[in-house]
Amino acid sequence: MFRQSSKLANVLYDIRGPVLEEAEAMEAAGHTILKLNIGNPAPFGFAAPETIVQDMVGHLPEAQGYSDSRGILSGRRAVVQHYESKGITNLDAREVFLGNGVSELITLSLQALCNPGDEILVPSPDYPLWTASVALSGGTPKHYACDDENGWLPDLEDLEAKITERTRGIVVINPNNPTGAVYPRQTLAAIVDIARRHNLIVFADEIYEKITYNGVEMINMATLTGDDVLCLTFSGLSKAYRIAGYRAGWLAITGPLAEAKSYIEGITLLANMRMCANVPAQHAIQAALGGHQSIEDLVLPTGRLGEQMEVAHAGLNAIDGVSAQRADGALYLFAKLDVEKFGITDDEQFALDLLREQKILISHGTAFNWSRPDHFRLVTLPSVDVLEQSIERLGEFLSGYRQV
Ligand code: PLP
Repeated sequence: MFRQSSKLANVLYDIRGPVLEEAEAMEAAGHTILKLNIGNPAPFGFAAPETIVQDMVGHLPEAQGYSDSRGILSGRRAVVQHYESKGITNLDAREVFLGNGVSELITLSLQALCNPGDEILVPSPDYPLWTASVALSGGTPKHYACDDENGWLPDLEDLEAKITERTRGIVVINPNNPTGAVYPRQTLAAIVDIARRHNLIVFADEIYEKITYNGVEMINMATLTGDDVLCLTFSGLSKAYRIAGYRAGWLAITGPLAEAKSYIEGITLLANMRMCANVPAQHAIQAALGGHQSIEDLVLPTGRLGEQMEVAHAGLNAIDGVSAQRADGALYLFAKLDVEKFGITDDEQFALDLLREQKILISHGTAFNWSRPDHFRLVTLPSVDVLEQSIERLGEFLSGYRQV
């Protein structure tokens, strides 16, 4: 028997789990599946800005060798300038790491930090890579509640109550996946205050930085953490520049660098061990950040993404037994199901039943480390037509659904 490592015992990533496998099997058998499960812009007609693609193609001949393990200097400088333009003036290119997407840098930064038993505060619901990466690193994920009765904002009392002497850091996903919440300044400032008082690291996952609706302001965490709170900011090109397949992301470290010397050396060691990120995609970073061709025009009320978000929000709320909070950012709605009405005790089973009956693929809420089987996440990337059709079919399905 070749068994997987016991390190994986608590590592879950169910948004690519059994429901997706079933959908793939159904596709292989000739069914057409409406995929509302993964935030991958390209298949939904969001072509990457042409200048970025051309720039990467143009750099292919010179991108044949390994680069510096932190990434090419032009890309790291572009990241520094990007944050300077946001008012973050304490970032140096030495503390920027380019990676194969944010995903690689999330796992790397936790591997470099956690000793067994170290605790990291992760939101619930979360983007499950965070919980999985903490577990994989030997640390213990501790979930703090985000409150669906209060615009999905972090419950700060719960967050602070979960801090122990083993707590090392707080993960903040803003704009949030899966809830779509964009945190106001006072919430972010309160989290920074907690981090400062308890000497914690802030892990700011800001991959949806440019995707906010109706002019809602997105505030970068590192504008608030200053020089005294260590802040690891993660972002990249997958969403805002709709090139998830290139795998281009970055990590920018600000704050008390002298205190974090050993930790940053650990991150550098792990970055060295994997040589470098995919070099052609690193070139795309400068092209993207230097231009004006991001997703911004698409999120305006008149833009495609903004319109889709409105349609999906209204459509879900029109279904008897479903309610969804408005999303101010990102590409998702995290909708609530009336579990009493539908007799739902197992939300993965609900997702499977919907898939088998209506050929619609959504992600069940517990896959996002949400503790109750009463939510699901819908991706708002499909065109208005497809969203309307899918939501109508979901409504039809639910009108006759009773799980137990
Ligand atoms: N963080 C969040 C909140 C995400 O939603 C995603 C992808 O969906 C990632 C990180 C991973 O992004 P990347 O494509 O840069 O690895």
